[in-house]
Amino acid sequence: MGTSQDSKSYKVVTYGCQMNVHDSERLSGLLEDAGYVKAGQEGDPDLVVFNTCAVRENADNKLYGNLGQLAPAKTRNKDMQIAVGGCLAQKDRDTIVRRAPWVDVVFGTHNIGHLPALLERARIEQQAQVEILESLETFPSTLPTRRESAYAAWVAISVGCNNTCTFCIVPALRGKEEDRRPGDVLSEIEALVGEGVIEVTLLGQNVNSYGSDLGDREAFSKLLRAAGQIDGLERIRFTSPHPRDFTDDVIAAMAETPNVMHQLHMPMQSGSDKVLKAMKRSYRQERFLGIIEKVRAAMPDAAISTDIIVGFPGETEEDFEQTMHAVREARFANAFTFQYSKRPGTPAAEMDDQIPKAVVTERYNRLIALQEEISWEENKKQVGRTLEILVAEGEGKKDDRTDRLSGRAPDNRLVHFTRPASPVRPGDVVTVEITYAAPHHLLAEGPTLAVRRTRAGDAWEKRQAAPAGAKPAGVMLGLPTIGAPSPAAAPAAAPAAGGCCGD
Ligand code: SF4
Repeated sequence: MGTSQDSKSYKVVTYGCQMNVHDSERLSGLLEDAGYVKAGQEGDPDLVVFNTCAVRENADNKLYGNLGQLAPAKTRNKDMQIAVGGCLAQKDRDTIVRRAPWVDVVFGTHNIGHLPALLERARIEQQAQVEILESLETFPSTLPTRRESAYAAWVAISVGCNNTCTFCIVPALRGKEEDRRPGDVLSEIEALVGEGVIEVTLLGQNVNSYGSDLGDREAFSKLLRAAGQIDGLERIRFTSPHPRDFTDDVIAAMAETPNVMHQLHMPMQSGSDKVLKAMKRSYRQERFLGIIEKVRAAMPDAAISTDIIVGFPGETEEDFEQTMHAVREARFANAFTFQYSKRPGTPAAEMDDQIPKAVVTERYNRLIALQEEISWEENKKQVGRTLEILVAEGEGKKDDRTDRLSGRAPDNRLVHFTRPASPVRPGDVVTVEITYAAPHHLLAEGPTLAVRRTRAGDAWEKRQAAPAGAKPAGVMLGLPTIGAPSPAAAPAAAPAAGGCCGD
């Protein structure tokens, strides 16, 4: 493909969490700034960038498998370049070029802005470049970004994490929490709204500890309220909050700011106080359920979801029963459930009393069965409600066959609705009545009650008119897996579901 820098094509392959998806948007933005164009479906790209995740089990095997598959293409095209970034690169460093010597650049989580320069240096020196920094040089959001969606955007408000959850690799690979200044966050949101975006999701490994770096414990609730003032911004979400930092001022800001959605994804991880302690999660079951009670008192329509790890080292049947109890009490709209599996480099991987796989799977199946029942019951309560749905792109696999469109309710529930007679674009908003509930989606089978064409729909339409290579491909956003994901993990493909490792 391309012979000059100006016409080189690129492809970014992303693994893992929303933070990585958002980093990949920046990688694409940086590369396009440097003159690359997004590769089409045909032929080998001139550059392939893997943005890796260290959370998944066998992440390294998968990466080396993919790198191995690219080796023949690299032999065919000597000018082709391969770069590996993200958490696994930060962790494995020069092991990558030892195991896959055809890789040109290895970069870490703190220096994604250097990628174009590293590629150029690798080209000139004809030698692999490995550059891993231990701390952040530039806050990633200041880098150019190529957004995947015309109507919804991620906005990182912090990076890193000051906690030390024993199952999590994030503190080792992403470093201490660094908060972005509120003015910078708000300017970015305003600029996004100016481009047609109507929904933003504030992103951080531990989003509600925002402010610890700025010396203001209420900084997160103030940020929510300030973002709520931005004209044209219809939906604000955030992910993922830590129960420890979930203070009453955040609940008040959510309840009192009309465009902050009544949706909360708050990882519980376990209902057992003993296991939470072993995880180094500083809250206990009572505190967690207490937050949920307060959220429901302030916002009775709030949809609350969570992450749960089953089979953490030392988890007894009694501990697991505590998790089941908490799930019954909390009545989550959905839960991302994970079977614990060792992640090298984490304290939990070294703990005695790892639980046999068969026991973990049996508990996991019981948890899924319970959560499925609750999700379905909670969804049934939506039948008969009239809701505004933000029309989405790529969320309804069967839409063409069923003559439906799909989108997200304000609480982020997935809704499939009958295609309206008048044209509707992703980013537009329709009003429908819910007629049927399944465990993981809702149906609106009647006629659309109203269609509101939005600036976001205009922005989507404008993108469609752009040349094919300039159109971003859809990405499925979702949680990474720690072990196998629950079928219940399927619905929340919209930008609002969980942090890197279920923070
Ligand atoms: S699980 Fe979340 S809160 Fe805990 S260390 Fe990891 S990123 Fe931080």
